[in-house]
Amino acid sequence: MMRILWNSLKKGILSKKIDKISSSTRYEKTGEELHSLIIKKFGRSLHIREVDAGSCGACESEIISATNPIYDIQRFGVDFVASPRHADALLVTGPVPGNMALALKRTYEAMPGPKFVITCGDCALNGGAFKDSYYCAGNISKIVPVAAHIPGCPPHPLAIINSLLCLLGRIE
Ligand code: SF4
Repeated sequence: MMRILWNSLKKGILSKKIDKISSSTRYEKTGEELHSLIIKKFGRSLHIREVDAGSCGACESEIISATNPIYDIQRFGVDFVASPRHADALLVTGPVPGNMALALKRTYEAMPGPKFVITCGDCALNGGAFKDSYYCAGNISKIVPVAAHIPGCPPHPLAIINSLLCLLGRIE
């Protein structure tokens, strides 16, 4: 215990303060770019149906954070809906266990076109930490076509709007 204390006193502070102003400015700027792109491509808001396919809950927590009064992603024209029938995009979290594969496919089928799928968090891309587990359905692209991925474990709200911006920049 004393050795750990002594070593940490010797090394000093290794972490550095997060520059809150610059990260919030970056968030605002990206959000505004995203908003104009959404208006240009959709003429209204982008509606997202989120599906938890076996997530640990942390990805959901960040998605919920993106909608809280601090990040307030709704002001940039991104809205979360309860029904796939009202959705433009499907946002999937978690490593997709075998018993969620059919539900995921049906949710996608229930969406009106044009539609696209976004994976959120490393698990949803390729199983992440659960990749070789017996309960994973395997590559999500074999179940639904994936248009974009939001990296992170879990992804920060800034990563969420950044990935949406990249995706909308690509689609017609
Ligand atoms: S990517 Fe990380 S945070 Fe998201 S569901 Fe998987 S383990 Fe949880």
